[in-house]
Amino acid sequence: MIQVRVTGKCSRISKRQVREAVSFYSSLIISRRLLNYLTVRVEFKNLWKTDKCTGTCCPEYDEPRPRDFIVEVNSEMSKKKILETLAHELVHMKQFAYGELKHYLKIPKTRFLDELFDNEREVQSDENYWFSPWEIESWGRQPGMYVLYKQYLFDKDNK
Ligand SMILES: [Zn+2]
Repeated sequence: MIQVRVTGKCSRISKRQVREAVSFYSSLIISRRLLNYLTVRVEFKNLWKTDKCTGTCCPEYDEPRPRDFIVEVNSEMSKKKILETLAHELVHMKQFAYGELKHYLKIPKTRFLDELFDNEREVQSDENYWFSPWEIESWGRQPGMYVLYKQYLFDKDNK
């Protein structure tokens, strides 16, 4: 099971609900064996004000197969949007954890699977952001993960 810590302030969702959603989402896309080694800190902050974005995900340390992650989520959003953003960012966590996605620090490049991309390409609202394969995977998986989570909550309440 992945270890989840929640920090920062958010009035829209409880810390327990965040931990539950993170555990559920990550179990959909990451093997149970690998999950035992992973930790994630979910930090709520007003990201929209500073970065004009809904969420970010990055490894805590620069290592080939990172195990510890920080997910930042904009606190000023609806609960639905927060849950969708969590799903999206956890897909990026999966990509980092499996070594599929790597942002290099010394050169301005990003590797996804076997392909290298220039970082200048990855600019918000630019077509390169939307067409980068790691974003296509995250945006593609996010709605299904959210639907499955809602179903899981419904089933849990109606047992
Ligand atoms: Zn993304």
